[in-house]
Amino acid sequence: KRAFQFSPVQRYLDRIHEELLDLKDGAVADYIPELTRADPSWLGIAMVTVDGHVYQVGDSRQSFTIQSISKAITYGLALEDRGLDQVLSKVGVEPSGEAFNSISLEPGTGRPMNPMINAGAIATTGLIASTPDAPPMQRILDAFGRYTGRPMAIEETVYRSESDTGHRNRAIAHLLLGYGILDRTPEEVVDLYFRQCSILVTARDLAMIGACLANNGVNPVTGVVALQSRYVEKVLSVMSTCGMYDFSGAWIFNVGMPAKSGVGGGITAVLPGQFGLGVFSPRLDAKGNSVRGIEACKRLSKDFSLHLFHVARST
Ligand code: GLN
Repeated sequence: KRAFQFSPVQRYLDRIHEELLDLKDGAVADYIPELTRADPSWLGIAMVTVDGHVYQVGDSRQSFTIQSISKAITYGLALEDRGLDQVLSKVGVEPSGEAFNSISLEPGTGRPMNPMINAGAIATTGLIASTPDAPPMQRILDAFGRYTGRPMAIEETVYRSESDTGHRNRAIAHLLLGYGILDRTPEEVVDLYFRQCSILVTARDLAMIGACLANNGVNPVTGVVALQSRYVEKVLSVMSTCGMYDFSGAWIFNVGMPAKSGVGGGITAVLPGQFGLGVFSPRLDAKGNSVRGIEACKRLSKDFSLHLFHVARST
C-alpha cells in the first residue's frame, strides 16, 4: 500500500529527515574498506505500521549491509529450530554492558551473555547450522525474506572482507567450541555469521522487519509468518535490554522501544502493536550506533510520547 501523500505521519518524517541532515557527527565504520565507501550524507527513514502502511523518506531505498541487526532475526530462527530451553542453555539473556565484539562469556560455562553481541550471535548461528534439513545459509536468507517480503542477497565484497579480517570473531568461535557451545567447526559457523552480517537491506526493509515484530510475527504487507508468535516477545526482550550494544540502558531509558543497530548504519526500532521503524545513516558514534538513527528515534519517541512505559492519563 502507498501512504497518502499528505498524511501527517509522512509530513512529520519529511520534517525530521530534513532537520537531521544538518547533524554531521560521527564517522562511517572503517574496520573494512568496503564500509568506508558509504556516502556519509545518506539518510533514509521508513515506517511500516501493523496495518501495512509504508511511509518512507530520503535514502530509504539505498541498500547497505545489515550487520548486527541480523542477530535479532537469527535469534528468532534459532528459537524456532531448537526451542527456548536448548537455546537458553547455549546463550544467556543478560546485558553485558560491554562492546559488541567483547568476549563476554559466563565464567565456568562459557555461555555468551546474550545473543545481541558477537559471541552470542555466533553461538546462535551455530545452533541454526546444526539443523539437518536445508543448507543453513539458504534458511537464513529465506527467514530474512519472510520479514522483508522480498528475496534477500549477500554483498559479496563485504562478506569477503569480513571473512579476511574477522580474526577476533574466529577466536571467539574457537573459545565457544572449547566450552562445548558450538557443535560445528568454528570456520563453518563464522563463515555463516560473516554472510548473515553481509545481507543487503534498505531502511524500508528494516522498518518491515520491525513491523513484523510489532505485529506478533506476521508480515503486515504479505501476511506471511516471519516469526512464530510465541518467540516474538523473547526477541523483543533481548532487543530491549541488549540491542544497542553498551548503549542499551540509556536507549531504553530515553527512547523506550526495543531496537537493534548495526555498524552498516542501520537501526530497527519496534513499537509493539503499532509499527516498525527503520533508519539508515552510516555515520556512527563511538559505540557503533548510527548518530542520526539514534536522534531520529529519540525525536519520534519524545514528540509522540511513544516510550513503552509511558501511560497516557485520561483525566
Ligand atoms: N560484522 C561485524 C562484526 O562482527 C559487525 C557487527 C556489528 O554490526 N556490530 O564485528
